[in-house]
Amino acid sequence: MDVERTVIEQKLVSRRRMLAAAAVSAVPLSVGAWHLSSKDSSGQSSSNAASATQTAAPPDTWNPFVRVNLTPSPLTDLTISIDGPFRVLAPGSAKILAQSVSVKDRIVSAEGNGIRIGDEVFPISQIEIVTAKPPSIWIGRNQYRGSIRIFRRPGGRLIAVNLLPLEEYLASVVNSEMPATFPDEAREAQTIAARTYVLSQMKGHPQFDVYATSRSQRYLGYQYLNDEGRRLAGETQGSREITARTAGIVCTWEGKVFTTFYTAVCGGRTTLGRSVFKDAVPAIASVECDWCREADRYRWTSTLPVDRISKSLREHFADLNEEFGQLKSLQPSFGDAGDLPFYMVSDGVQTKKIAGTELRHSLPIGTLSSPRFTAEIDATEVRFSGAGHGHGVGFCQWGSRGLALAGRSALQILQYYYPGSATVRLRG
Ligand SMILES: [Zn+2]
Repeated sequence: MDVERTVIEQKLVSRRRMLAAAAVSAVPLSVGAWHLSSKDSSGQSSSNAASATQTAAPPDTWNPFVRVNLTPSPLTDLTISIDGPFRVLAPGSAKILAQSVSVKDRIVSAEGNGIRIGDEVFPISQIEIVTAKPPSIWIGRNQYRGSIRIFRRPGGRLIAVNLLPLEEYLASVVNSEMPATFPDEAREAQTIAARTYVLSQMKGHPQFDVYATSRSQRYLGYQYLNDEGRRLAGETQGSREITARTAGIVCTWEGKVFTTFYTAVCGGRTTLGRSVFKDAVPAIASVECDWCREADRYRWTSTLPVDRISKSLREHFADLNEEFGQLKSLQPSFGDAGDLPFYMVSDGVQTKKIAGTELRHSLPIGTLSSPRFTAEIDATEVRFSGAGHGHGVGFCQWGSRGLALAGRSALQILQYYYPGSATVRLRG
C-alpha cells in the first residue's frame, strides 16, 4: 500500500490518565500519539470529548472499501430483501438499470446470459445494488452495510459480494470473531489483527478480497437472524468504539502488512506459521501459551469408528495415487516443539506419513478440533485426545483473553503472538 507509516507509542494510556491530561492541559492530545483508551476506574468502557479527538475516523485513504464474498460456494439462487429505496447499477457505472422503494424476499438467480431479480431480468453478468440508507440490504438471514454486487459465474451460479468501508466491516468482524464478553484489550488486539489480515488480502482479485467465513475471517454483517428468527446484532456500540479506538492501526513486518493468522485456542503453544502456511512471515512464530487454558477445547477428546477413518485415509491417499487398507496404528511424529505435528499411519503392510492438518480436514468435520492430538486404537474405535481449537497458528483468541485478564494491553498481546513485528498507524 502506498501509505506512510508511523510507529505509534507502545504504551497504552488509561482512561483516567487521559481524562487527567485533558483536564490539566485543556489541550487535545497530540494527533501523533494514538492511545487506545482502556477503562476508567469504575471498570466501564466509555467515551468522551478527549477520546473523540483521538478516535476520529482516519481519512478515506486509510479506510479503503473491502469486498467481502458472502457466498463461499457459488449458489444457483439467493434471497434478497431491501428495507428502503435502492438503485440497481452496472458496477463502475452511474447508469441506473432499475430502482424501487423496497423489496421483500426476492429470489435472485441466473437467467440466460443475465441476472434475474424477482420478475426483472438484467442482461449483464454483474450488477451492483446501492441503497439510499444503508444498512438495509438483506442477503438471506444477514443484513449488511454498504452495497451488494452480484456476479454471474459459469454454470448459472452466482456470488454476492458486500462492498463497505474497512472500518465498518471491522465493527462486525470483531463481534463475529470474538465474544463481546472478552476484555476490551483482547478485542482491540483482535480488531488490529483483523484489520491487518484484510489489508494483506487485498491482492487485486477482480471480484472480492476476503470471504465472510473462517476461510478468511467471520463477518456476520450489521445484524442477522438466528435459527429461531430472532434478530441479533452483528455490530454493537461496543464493537464500533473498539474499531474507532484502534482506527488505522495495523501490524507490520519489515514495513509491510502481513497475513496475521489467528486461531481460536492454541492449546498450550502456537504453531510455527511457516510449517503450515507458505506465506507466513517470521513474526508468525511458535510461542508458549497456556493463557487459553480456560477455553473448553484447551483439551478435548473424540472418537470415530476405525472403518470410518480408514475410508477417509483411503480417499486421501487415492488422491495421491496411493493405496491404503484398514487402519492398524496411528502414531504421532512430533518434530520440534511448535512445528506442525505429523502422524504415521499404518494398515499393517505399509506406513505413511500425513500432516495433522491434512488428517483433520480429511475426517468428518468436528472429529479433530485441532491438528495436535494423540490416538488410541482398539478393535473398532479410535479415541483421540487433543489440544486446542483451530490450526493453532498466530494470535490465540482465547489466549488474548487470558493475557488481557492478566493486565496486558492490546499492543503487548500482539507483540506476544507476533514477536518482532511492529504496530503502526497508517497515515494518508
Ligand atoms: Zn493459546
